[in-house]
Amino acid sequence: MILPIYLYGQPILRKVAQDITPDYPNLKELIKNMFETMDNADGVGLAGTQIGLPIRIVVVNLDAISDKHPEYKGFRKTYINAHIISTEGEETDMEEGCLSIPGIHEIVKRPSKIHVQYMDEDFTEHDEVVESYLARVMQHEFGHLEGKLFIDYISPLRKQMIRGKLNGFLKGKYQCSYKMKAVK
Ligand code: ZN
Repeated sequence: MILPIYLYGQPILRKVAQDITPDYPNLKELIKNMFETMDNADGVGLAGTQIGLPIRIVVVNLDAISDKHPEYKGFRKTYINAHIISTEGEETDMEEGCLSIPGIHEIVKRPSKIHVQYMDEDFTEHDEVVESYLARVMQHEFGHLEGKLFIDYISPLRKQMIRGKLNGFLKGKYQCSYKMKAVK
């Protein structure tokens, strides 16, 4: 089932999400629905808060970019109770967008290497050091679990430049091709 994606201005996007336990209701179905919702919107990642749930769950599809990055062929993963423990390495620039802020793409500076802890869909614990494109996607998606959006990391000047577009989301002026839930 395709779920509505919550757009910029929805308070849930600023909530810090909470860990869940294996008995979380209908978890398997939720994960399936999150993948379906992300795929339908051509996204590479989707976090719980983006579908209105303040829980630490993220789905990622890097298979979608495996033409350019063959190392990610078949990469479709679920991250539960995900936490970034630390970041290191040089900061790099990369353009980011977000299913919750359609129509806006900006260069974001982020560290190139991160230490993460999470559980997979079977609640097996993982502790990893991640680099490259995956580290970028994880920082964007796990950021959602802390109530952060990629626009929080752009320069004040760029923020000023997109202010009109951001305010548009609050006034019902935006374009979105998938099922969503906006404030107006
Ligand atoms: Zn996002």
